[in-house]
Amino acid sequence: MDESPASCIFCRIIGGSAESSEIYRDDDCVAFLDIQPINPGHVLVCPTRHASSFNELTPTEIASALSVAQRVAQVQKDRLPNCQGFNLMLSDGEAAGQEVPHVHFHVVPRHPGDEFGMRRVGKPSNRGELDALAKQLQIP
Ligand code: AMP
Ligand code: ZN
Repeated sequence: MDESPASCIFCRIIGGSAESSEIYRDDDCVAFLDIQPINPGHVLVCPTRHASSFNELTPTEIASALSVAQRVAQVQKDRLPNCQGFNLMLSDGEAAGQEVPHVHFHVVPRHPGDEFGMRRVGKPSNRGELDALAKQLQIP
């Protein structure tokens, strides 16, 4: 992944030098249709400021983007025929499948039988393992 803003396709979309099908814009974020949608009406919500990782965002940027994602999900439900749910997703880092190094939330409208899903399901754990990880992950 090239991480520089100058070569970032989403910065170019936000700046107006690359085309997109935009549905919302304010000072903090932009929402536009994914060019290769999982389902029709699949939207990406991006903070205006270039940052590659969710962990670089300010609380205000997170709140703005999530608030817009909620509004996107509501219009999908209201205006897309057969939209009966949605997935809100963020891929952070190459290991997580991130392809565009500009933070973005996917808002994917869902309908029964659309065949979208995670490739791998969770594996059973036990209380000992869970408690050890809970200790490791305590948030101060
Ligand atoms: P990811 O980084 O894995 O979360 O996914 C990047 C997403 O951006 C993919 O779903 C692409 O289809 C989408 N995408 C890439 N380029 C564009 C573009 N120019 N306009 C709209 N969506 C794009
Ligand atoms: Zn960018």
